[in-house]
Amino acid sequence: MNTRRDFLQKISMGLGAAALSPLMSQASFFSANKIPGRKLNVALMGLGGYAGIVARAMKQCQMATLTGIVTGTPSKIDKWKKDYNIADKNIYNYDNLQNIAKNPDIDVVYITTPNSLHQKHVLQVAATGKHVICEKPLADTAQQAREMIAACKKAGVKFYVGYRLHFQPHTREIIRMRQAGEFGKIMHVNNYMGFRIGDPTQWRLKKALAGGGAMMDVGVYALNGARYATGEEPIWVTAQEAKTDPVKFAEVDETVTFQLGFPGGAIAECGTTYNFNNFERLYMIGEKGFAELSPAFGYGPIKGRTHLGELQIQDVTHQAAQMDGLADCILNGKPDPNMTGEEGLKDMIVIDAVYESIRKNGQKILINQ
Ligand code: NDP
Repeated sequence: MNTRRDFLQKISMGLGAAALSPLMSQASFFSANKIPGRKLNVALMGLGGYAGIVARAMKQCQMATLTGIVTGTPSKIDKWKKDYNIADKNIYNYDNLQNIAKNPDIDVVYITTPNSLHQKHVLQVAATGKHVICEKPLADTAQQAREMIAACKKAGVKFYVGYRLHFQPHTREIIRMRQAGEFGKIMHVNNYMGFRIGDPTQWRLKKALAGGGAMMDVGVYALNGARYATGEEPIWVTAQEAKTDPVKFAEVDETVTFQLGFPGGAIAECGTTYNFNNFERLYMIGEKGFAELSPAFGYGPIKGRTHLGELQIQDVTHQAAQMDGLADCILNGKPDPNMTGEEGLKDMIVIDAVYESIRKNGQKILINQ
């Protein structure tokens, strides 16, 4: 049988997309036989830019479907109803969210609100008894993330962070190769992710809504990438910030470089910025080989090469792959990918240390996870 579920099982077993088909097309990835059984019913909370991307991508999903919305802006409702065929009884705002508890049309709420609202919203959703997916960065601090995990555990609901790359074929392939020992011992990692941010009035530049700047928003990709490149958790951090525009970046970090020390001896040299473009790469070097993804962390198409040559893998729509993958976990009990709340917490612990090191003029911060 050649179903999408078979494919997801194969990649989750670590065979990797490349091993299945050298050039798997987007069409064949998503238009395989329909999966029997019911779909995961998803409500999106916070109908901004990223919610729109997720909603459009979910039209390709085989195992997940958009059934509800939570919004604080009534003027958005008509368009979302029309575009996604949302029933009136599945439309909520931030004040009547608790009524979702009784709604059988919603299994999971996917939170796509500004960073500093994540904790409050995760706690609210967990209290309804629905599963939770929360966008990155998981929270403002590790302590908040711990409280979110505890609330979801107490409520008996699944809790995921939107690390879409863990269902992305190139990313999965380099992880598979590392786990299979094809690079040998990992000696060094060099990751960076950033962009030049526009509108100076947006919430991403306000500490009260963003929690932090580039490090929180996209530095987390370089950091998470260093963890999947090594398969280890960092034991120390050093970090530095460069601020070339103290007016625009008065409240949040602009450009951050940070170094992560791993128990195996590798150091990851990482960077992030809100003030220039063309800054996106993952590069991991082992004793026997290397992998480079460039671009590595955006919506794709992701491209890459290893010491064996170009990665002959076609990219997919990340958000569709993520939502089908999570549906398989929630509905069919497939093992959770590396995008649980605990994984988000591991990154928050390091982000806390990055900011502590910056505050202490680059002092080495030891981490006990
Ligand atoms: P937007 O500003 O485009 O949307 C955020 C939405 O949250 C708003 O449209 C609004 O929806 C709701 N909201 C509720 N309270 C507030 C408030 N006080 N101020 C502003 N908006 C509010 O942000 P994005 O969609 O770009 O980002 C949302 C989250 O998604 C962030 O955490 C971000 O890091 C993450 N993200 C993840 C990406 C990924 O690749 N995984 C990519 C891009 C973003 P409404 O009017 O419906 O209430």
